[in-house]
Amino acid sequence: MSPHTDPVVLATRNPGKVLEMRALLEPLGLRLVSAAERSLPPVEENGSSLAENARHKAIEIATASGLAAIADDTGLEVDALGGAPGLRSARWAGPGCSPEDNNRKLLAELQGFEEPQRRARFRTVIVWALPPRDGTPARVLHEVEGVLEGVIVAQPRGTGGFGYDPLFRPLGSDRTLAEMRPEEKNAISHRGRALAALRAALAACGRS
Ligand code: IMP
Repeated sequence: MSPHTDPVVLATRNPGKVLEMRALLEPLGLRLVSAAERSLPPVEENGSSLAENARHKAIEIATASGLAAIADDTGLEVDALGGAPGLRSARWAGPGCSPEDNNRKLLAELQGFEEPQRRARFRTVIVWALPPRDGTPARVLHEVEGVLEGVIVAQPRGTGGFGYDPLFRPLGSDRTLAEMRPEEKNAISHRGRALAALRAALAACGRS
């Protein structure tokens, strides 16, 4: 991929996501800056789907920064909970809650459930938006999705990753995402898959 002069803004304030997206996108020659590095204001996530939230974040950040923006919205869908926490994954245990609060709530709600009800998936939607140009407002150029199927384990395991990773064991693995090295997680994860689709879309548009 040819180097681009303008940086691309990662429309997230989550340091775990920033690390993973840098590891997956910088090898393509993209110069990335985070929304925090640019002191951009947080964007509300009030949409009715992951895609709506990701589009909204990417458009807002592309408009505020004047640069192309990449936004990710992710949800954890647990079968025993009818797909919850889903869109509410970030604040599931309440406003201002920590990842540990969310994980404790998840384990409490799954008490008494065995496989296959403990089956779950991470779903990520990633949107690439172009900044406003010549009177045309910011617009979505690419929208891609990645899914990782797995199981919610009985106790947190591992110290890597972030968020729900200590409780999520991908199907076919005996380790949780938090027990994997970053490159192992990135090679199989919902975010890694979505970014592979984004890379393909960028290449098809002649950015490679
Ligand atoms: P959001 O996409 O920032 O709204 O994230 C929703 C919630 O899912 C947050 O609690 C994140 O910590 C969590 N989350 C997002 N991506 C991952 C991941 O790759 N592993 C574990 N948890 C994640």
